[in-house]
Amino acid sequence: MARKLAAGNWKMNGTRGALQELSALAQAHPDPSVDILICPPATLIHPAAALMADSSVQIGGQDCHAQVSGAHTGDISAEMLADAGASSVILGHSERREDHGESSDAVNAKIRAAHAAGLVAIVCVGESLSQRDAANTLDIIGGQLATSLPDACTAANTVIAYEPIWAIGTGKVPTTEQIDEVHDFIRTHMIRRFGEAEGGAMPLLYGGSVKPDNAAEIFATDNVDGALVGGASLKAADFSPIIKAL
Ligand code: 13P
Repeated sequence: MARKLAAGNWKMNGTRGALQELSALAQAHPDPSVDILICPPATLIHPAAALMADSSVQIGGQDCHAQVSGAHTGDISAEMLADAGASSVILGHSERREDHGESSDAVNAKIRAAHAAGLVAIVCVGESLSQRDAANTLDIIGGQLATSLPDACTAANTVIAYEPIWAIGTGKVPTTEQIDEVHDFIRTHMIRRFGEAEGGAMPLLYGGSVKPDNAAEIFATDNVDGALVGGASLKAADFSPIIKAL
């Protein structure tokens, strides 16, 4: 059984005042039965990690560079994230793939950098609406997994997040049959590639318009070990019921 994880991706939202949401979240979940992770913008990682040091809430990054250091203006290395107090980093999010032209090969290099720095890589995959309409969903996901994941992925250092691009920030959610089909496919892929012990225990998250009112139904689906939540992770009052539904 994979461990359960409720992860929040704040994207480019939040200044220091938003740290109070973390305190509220930690207060609401002093002894949670699932892992809780918030990935705030880079400017908040260190204060967030310091504030959450003795709490149940872990802090992560939203991206890292493949290199440890060097002439890469504006970028952040995995080592820097770890040094700031992050335990994990989201990699290959569709917004990075789209806004920054990140290929699966680039994501692969970033995952290796994250692992070298001791971070858990939360690797995002997902199809566009036109790819789904053309019945290419499983081919796309299979290709992204095959190329993005390095051989050293284990159940302890890697989490996969299935995020259909058309469900992100749109309020549109796949049917549980559609989620089930993709998560079953990902689980099979992971077991074939990494073996039963590692591939069978790697947490598989669903992401895309997860809200308090649809979380329980999504979490009841086979092979869904948690969620990667965008908008509904910004406020403790919205994220807390999602954590409880898990
Ligand atoms: P929303 O929950 O806002 O749809 O975002 C999902 C997402 O992209 C999380 O990484």
